[in-house]
Amino acid sequence: MADVESLVSSAATVYARKYGKEPQWFAAAPGRVNLIGEHTDYNDGFVFPMAIERYTVIVAGPAEAETDAEFYSMYKNKSAFVQVDGSAKPPLHVAWFSYIQGTVQNVFEAGLTIPPFRAVVVSDVPLGGGLSSSASLEVAVATLLESAAGKKLDPVEKALLCQKAEHLYAKMPCGIMDQFISAMGEKGFAMLLDCRSKVPKMIPMDSPNVSVLIINSNVKHTLTGSEYPDRRRQCEKAAALMGVPMLRDADLELLQAKKEVFDKEIDGDICFRRARHVITENARTLAMAEALTEKEWKHCGELMYESHASMKDDFEITCPEVDILVDVTSKQKGVFGSRMTGGGFGGCTVSLVDTDKINDVIESVSQRYERQTGILPTAFATQAARGAYCPKE
Ligand code: ADP
Ligand code: MG
Repeated sequence: MADVESLVSSAATVYARKYGKEPQWFAAAPGRVNLIGEHTDYNDGFVFPMAIERYTVIVAGPAEAETDAEFYSMYKNKSAFVQVDGSAKPPLHVAWFSYIQGTVQNVFEAGLTIPPFRAVVVSDVPLGGGLSSSASLEVAVATLLESAAGKKLDPVEKALLCQKAEHLYAKMPCGIMDQFISAMGEKGFAMLLDCRSKVPKMIPMDSPNVSVLIINSNVKHTLTGSEYPDRRRQCEKAAALMGVPMLRDADLELLQAKKEVFDKEIDGDICFRRARHVITENARTLAMAEALTEKEWKHCGELMYESHASMKDDFEITCPEVDILVDVTSKQKGVFGSRMTGGGFGGCTVSLVDTDKINDVIESVSQRYERQTGILPTAFATQAARGAYCPKE
C-alpha cells in the first residue's frame, strides 16, 4: 500500500516525463468501506461508511490547447481527452472516460471556469473491488478542478454532482454513500449517513487498538443480472403492503402485524424477509453508531455478525465463498465481528479486529479460506482515513 505522498510523487514523475514541467495542482480522494447498513440506501435508510487509506491521486497543470483536457491514467496506460467547455453530452461508452467527463461537465455546470489542462491519475484503490474506486476517481477530479478554477464547491453539492456524473454518464444508478464519504470523510471518523435527509453525522472511530480489516473473497458471481432490480422491487412491494412510503418508515411490530397481508401474495414470504432485513439492518446501523461511540467493540462485532446472517438468510445476497470467509474470520482470536460489505454475491468482507492481531488473522484466514475454496483472498487493514483534499495546500 502506497501513501498519498508517494502516489503524488509517482504521478508527478510521470507528469514531468510526459510534459517536461512540474505539476501545479494536486488532488487526492479515498475509496471507502461500508461498516454496516447494506441495501438500506434505496429504502431511505442509514449507511455507515468510512474512508480507507487508499486513494486516487491526480496531479495536473495548465495546457495550451483551447477547449479540452487530457487525463492520463497510469492504471490504463492511456489518456482520456475530455471537454472542459460544457459541451459534453451523456452517455459515454468508454466507462472510465465517462466518470471523468461526467464530473468535469457537472463541475462546469456548477459554475466553475475550468482552464485547459493536463493531468496524471494514479490510484491504489483496487478497481472494481467494491471499495469505490469510481467515486474516488470522480471526487478526485472534482477536487482537482476546484484547485484549477481557484474556487471551492460546497462539499454536499460536490458529492451530489459526482453522483450525478455516475448516474448520467456511466449509467450506474448508485446511492449517495460513496461520493459523500469520499468527499467529506474525516480522519478518525466514520460517517453515519441518513439517505433520506442526506445529512451526515461523523462518529469517532479513532482507537489505534482496533483496525478495520478488508478481505476480498476474490469471487464475484453474476447470476441472472436481475438480483438488484428484483430486490428493489420486493422492497417497494413490502413497503406498499404495509402502507408506508418506504421501508425506512416501517418497524418490526408493523411487519408482524401485516403478516397476513403478506401471506396472501405469491411472493409474500420473500417480500416479508426482504423487509425484515432492511428494518433490522437500519436498527443495527443506528445501534452500531452508538456502540462505536462508546467503543463497545464486542457489541459492534455482534451487530456485524447479525448483519451478515440477515444478508444471508433474509436478503439472500451472500454466496458460499463469502459465508466461508466470515465463518473462518469469526473463529480467529482478536476478531470482534465480520460481515460481507457491498452489493453482494462476492466481493469483500469487513471485520473489526484487535490491531495487534491483524497479521495473525490475515495469515490464518487466508490459509483456511484457500483450503476450503481453492481461492487466495487479498487483505489489508486500515484506520478511518481523511476525505478528499489537495495534498500540497
Ligand atoms: P468500484 O467503484 O467498486 O471500484 P466500479 O465498477 O464502480 O467499481 O468502478 C471501477 C471503474 O472505475 C473502472 O473499471 C474504471 O472504469 C474506473 N476507474 C476507477 N479508477 C480508475 C483509474 N485510476 N483509472 C482509470 N479508470 C478508473
Ligand atoms: Mg463504483
